[in-house]
Amino acid sequence: MIEKAEAGRIEAHLRQLARFSDGETGVTRLPFSPAARKAVAYLTKKMQDAGLKVHVDATGAVHGLRPGKNFRRIILGSHYDSVPQGGAFDGIAGVVCGLEIARLLQDKELNYGLEIIAFNDEEGVRFGAGFLSSKALLGDLTVEDLQNCRDKEGISVYEAAKAAELTPDNLPAERWELPKIRAFLEIHIEQGGVLEYQQVPLGIVTGIVGMRRYTIEITGRADHAGTTPMDMRHDALWPAAAIIKEARRVALACPGAVATVGSLLMSPNAVNTVADKVELSLDLRSMEVREVAHMEQQIFQALAEAAEVAAVTYDIKPSLASQPGFMDKELISYLQTSAKKKEIKTMNMHSGAGHDALPISAKVPTAMLFVPSKGGRSHCPEEWSNGEHLAIAVDVMLDTILKINQEESL
Ligand SMILES: [Zn+2]
Repeated sequence: MIEKAEAGRIEAHLRQLARFSDGETGVTRLPFSPAARKAVAYLTKKMQDAGLKVHVDATGAVHGLRPGKNFRRIILGSHYDSVPQGGAFDGIAGVVCGLEIARLLQDKELNYGLEIIAFNDEEGVRFGAGFLSSKALLGDLTVEDLQNCRDKEGISVYEAAKAAELTPDNLPAERWELPKIRAFLEIHIEQGGVLEYQQVPLGIVTGIVGMRRYTIEITGRADHAGTTPMDMRHDALWPAAAIIKEARRVALACPGAVATVGSLLMSPNAVNTVADKVELSLDLRSMEVREVAHMEQQIFQALAEAAEVAAVTYDIKPSLASQPGFMDKELISYLQTSAKKKEIKTMNMHSGAGHDALPISAKVPTAMLFVPSKGGRSHCPEEWSNGEHLAIAVDVMLDTILKINQEESL
């Protein structure tokens, strides 16, 4: 008989880990920082206490392994890095849930091996890329990539890893042998307000949206706001306004899609001058590749038309493109069965945010659970999730791990 997860224990880990922060406000734990190194030391110790064999890999991910009878294994993980002044739950809550699962299964013999992973640099804040550990393990990164990817101070991932006493040269040897991985499982906070609004304690993720991101630069001409007639202006802000308006219109017309202009810089940014330069970001997301393509086409058409009227030029630079990730149907049905057995209400949902489960789902059968985020808040100090909800996620995930485990005994 396996015990139930203890919310108090999960909360205690999270409280302790929240202290590993470089800064007073919220949690700031960037990759390879002093706070990150403290978190690695803590997780190493706690994984060992849960009976796991621990090692820290080339990119700073912490692995805790319990071998099974079979050479294949089930991996459960999430990330321990945070955004600047972020919350105490994003990523790390899933790692702590993994610790709790390892503890609950400590005395149970399993057919599959069980590996808990705390990934590093999922957020991509410091080096601008993200999914560092998961992509490295998947074989999507080389040592050269680590040497070429640099932060704002010019420090490469490779150098930062070395400074943190890691061995980035080990990367090729540490890559996953994919056939040895039966499943990748992740528990994460929702980071939105749907579960709380629907009063459902657990979300079963069906997929993670595909994304395209651009930086758009519009160049016009600075002129006097009083003396330059409207039809003689080259106002760089007009096409920007057309992008913002069309983004809202077209995304509202695509169910489940979102389009965001989150950053806008203009110059000279003065009350009495026509704008000569505008730089804005555009972020398009949907589970449907054709919806992202449709939004892009409509928005760029609106930009072209407005730029012609304003007689300005523009340049579109793509900065990110990712395909949607689909969770494994069989694992989804296992999670649904486990939740039903435990009389937990769930809802199926897609994730609008990227997670380590996104790159991994392209190569390994993957499943993911969401727990409610209070007020839908995330990436801020107010981020909060209920320990009881995390314990529910642990119990349901653990039941699914046992169900996967039975496959091998058949
Ligand atoms: Zn996260």
